Amino acid sequence: MSQAAPPPHIADRYAPFGTTIFAEFTTLANEHGAVNLSQGFPDFDGPAFVKQAAHAAIDAGHNQYAPMPGTPELRAALARHWKRASGLDADVQTEITVTAGCTEAINAAMLGLINPGDPVVVFEPYYDCYRASIAVAGGVPRFVALRPDADGRFTFDERELREACAGARALLLNTPHNPTGKVFTRDELALIASLCQEHHLIAITDEVYERLTFEPDLPHITLASLPGMRARTVTLSSLGKTYSLTGWKVGWAIAPPHLTAGVRAAHQFLTYAVSHPMQLAAAIALDEGEAYVAELVQSYASARAHLADALTDLGFRVFRPEGTYFIMADHTELSRRVGVEGDFAFCRWLTTRAGVAAIPPSVFYDRPEFGRPLVRFAFCKTSALLDEAIGRLTRALK
Ligand code: GLN
Repeated sequence: MSQAAPPPHIADRYAPFGTTIFAEFTTLANEHGAVNLSQGFPDFDGPAFVKQAAHAAIDAGHNQYAPMPGTPELRAALARHWKRASGLDADVQTEITVTAGCTEAINAAMLGLINPGDPVVVFEPYYDCYRASIAVAGGVPRFVALRPDADGRFTFDERELREACAGARALLLNTPHNPTGKVFTRDELALIASLCQEHHLIAITDEVYERLTFEPDLPHITLASLPGMRARTVTLSSLGKTYSLTGWKVGWAIAPPHLTAGVRAAHQFLTYAVSHPMQLAAAIALDEGEAYVAELVQSYASARAHLADALTDLGFRVFRPEGTYFIMADHTELSRRVGVEGDFAFCRWLTTRAGVAAIPPSVFYDRPEFGRPLVRFAFCKTSALLDEAIGRLTRALK
């Protein structure tokens, strides 16, 4: 006789967050043979020279613990990358920490810098781990909404941001922004920077899509590069999106020594150190990957245009992303046509009936009603896979 499985035993601190939406929809996509445009990962491989560098590092015997803050090779490559990207210098000894992906960096920043009860300002929609990482650190999130304006650009209300910043401890910014595809403008960043200084906030920025921007007049700007921000900003990023190596989980935090101290205080006990051979290969990617990145951005620009046009033809209202590899669209017209209501029901319908998985964005909101009319598609896919998805959507929805 088989016994019923015991109920899940999850500590209170994680119980409210359930299973991440990415695991849920990737599992559903696999069960139904759906084209997976839900979880953002490329269906193609990263550059061969970087994979070879990883093999070489393993063969050369770099298989024991790396130094806690990261290998000297990767930290030096990160200092060069940061200089190219922002014009700023970073001290490799005291200002750069290598983490297990940006997710670890976010958690280390929260656990190492936020005290229980500290308010943390965060824009919604937000990447799902932000909320859990703030909560686990005992922080109290204060949400500022990003909402589409008449032109379909996601913007925020200055007064709402001002109110949220008063008395807060930190502000968490993601630019280019998942899931909206928004790239914060220099003016928006200048306002954020002035509020951080006025209220003595620590700025924590998730810039993992830093290289994936598509509008020549809207380049990615590192918040730390704005006047007065270098000394109060923890800049986080990773290898995964830029080099199509999301499974490597190599990320980093760059911050002045007094803030790096907090990040490392947590990092040393969370993971201690990151995969040694992968760090050595990551350094090669950063130093020698420019041609790869240029080509990747060009192919993502075509994928963005192709999927945005197809979705518009099908009757979605598309909010054209300025960066990242995600497209948000309003599904109201189409969900009504197929007789389902809300983003969850629509995404389940898409996955199980149309054979294309997408993410219901209401999970990214404190006020889920803002996300209910929306759906998020990932376009970090080969054109063959996108064409297959578009074909399936057309057959199901037209
Ligand atoms: N960043 C990816 C996305 O937004 C998902 C990463 C994950 O699965 N946790 O789709």
